[in-house]
Amino acid sequence: MAAIETCNFDLHCHSTISDGVLAPAEVVRRAAANGVSVLALTDHDELAGLAAAADAARADGIRFVPGVEISVTWAETTIHIVGLGLDPTHGELDASLRHLRAGRGRRAERIAVEFDELGIPGTLEGAYGYAENPKLIGRAHFARFLVDCGVARDVASVFRHYLVRGKPGYVPQQWAELAEAVAWIRASGGRAVVAHPGRYKFSREQLRQFLAEFKAAGGEGIEVVTGSHSPDQYVEFARLAREFDLLASRGSDFHGPAESHIDLGRLPPLPSDLKPVWHDW
Ligand code: AMP
Ligand code: MN
Ligand code: MN
Ligand code: MN
Repeated sequence: MAAIETCNFDLHCHSTISDGVLAPAEVVRRAAANGVSVLALTDHDELAGLAAAADAARADGIRFVPGVEISVTWAETTIHIVGLGLDPTHGELDASLRHLRAGRGRRAERIAVEFDELGIPGTLEGAYGYAENPKLIGRAHFARFLVDCGVARDVASVFRHYLVRGKPGYVPQQWAELAEAVAWIRASGGRAVVAHPGRYKFSREQLRQFLAEFKAAGGEGIEVVTGSHSPDQYVEFARLAREFDLLASRGSDFHGPAESHIDLGRLPPLPSDLKPVWHDW
């Protein structure tokens, strides 16, 4: 359908309900202004922004797809699974995410103790100061505070020196199982998509094993064109989408104007031979 080809799909972004800097309605307004025609809001482990975003999308005349980005631990690595087109009122999904979120407060306390020991005090209160939704306290909130107190120049450089495995301020966290995250998404009527696969530090072998397990669990899609990938990675993950017969997705992973190098909807198109995740929408 010609109409679909001219549509600008952005199926991955964040609001203040998780670690984005714009409220859900502001994200939608910015997407509409940027020419996005179909937007999914995919806050981390939380559905609370979807109703406001859907209302704003109606007002702004763009199509809205309810989404989520679920934190998963696989092979001792944190990976993210995006759910698209789910029912935000689904009880099992909501309860499972509530349980998943519950560990964030304790992790934040442990992160703050690490920074205290480094001689950087006040990070717990500082991070909560950036978390409009305190239940979703996360590393991005710590990163913003650390920039604010001059520990690093910007959020990207915080994540080069702190908060990641092997660096100070890193606290391992057990997130959801891969199969359960996919099952929650499917039970709520959604489609599971691997978020930014190029960001995981997997060997080729591990990546293939991961994709095979994801498919076996009922996963259907993979992000090919994302704000987290380089142009070389668009090519690499297009190839894997073909090889594993996965639907291809496109999303900016926008968190805020000052932090995201790719703005809402400002991405190249998917390679035309791939079957998009929206092919039957
Ligand atoms: P959390 O779910 O609390 O562990 O935080 C994960 C979030 O931290 C991601 O969704 C990003 O928003 C942010 N993040 C992780 N790594 C980086 C990075 N290298 N640069 C910028 N932001 C990052
Ligand atoms: Mn984030
Ligand atoms: Mn992610
Ligand atoms: Mn994201």
